[in-house]
Amino acid sequence: MRDIYRGEVICPVCGHVQPKGERCRYCGSHLYHRKPNALKWGIIYSLTAFAFLIPANLLPIMEVIKLGKVYSNTIIGGIIAFLEDGDYFIAIVIFVASVLIPFLKLFILWFLFGVAEFDKWKRYRRVATNLYKFISFIGKYSMLDVFVVVLMVSFIQFGNLAEIKAGPAVIPFGLAVIFTILATEQFDPKLLWDKGGGKNERS
Ligand SMILES: [Zn+2]
Repeated sequence: MRDIYRGEVICPVCGHVQPKGERCRYCGSHLYHRKPNALKWGIIYSLTAFAFLIPANLLPIMEVIKLGKVYSNTIIGGIIAFLEDGDYFIAIVIFVASVLIPFLKLFILWFLFGVAEFDKWKRYRRVATNLYKFISFIGKYSMLDVFVVVLMVSFIQFGNLAEIKAGPAVIPFGLAVIFTILATEQFDPKLLWDKGGGKNERS
């Protein structure tokens, strides 16, 4: 791929092809072949997101105050409560949006980093490119994850329960969502198609 341009770069902002340099001679934007430090920041952001997902799942996502007693539920606890009540649809929606997708996005990102970095993984680059499109696509709906948590709380509010509050897990959950978006944004899919771990064209 890099052979096409032979020392020339496409400005990432205005799209003009020009000789390599610090800044675009047309619009003055910073020029690069690949997003600078895409892997380094991708790894940092994704590990941060993973670290936040742990308290997000272990701490209570909501607290229910009923007849003076406080009951708290984690995400998994909430899912189990819905299953026990026979609300399978809500249980599945919450599981997919709050547990499955957040972890799946991170595992996919780590796979992409592997394909970008290791020559032996290059044979998976077509699969990796499709997975990248997939997480970029679902990334647009990332706030849905947070929305589902809010939905879970409000659904229960329709019951005859006294009072419901969002639990402390809401904060790490929101941060995990944000850092996953940052890690995805930071990744440059062209790295999947570079040879030699993409090192030769990173500037
Ligand atoms: Zn430009």
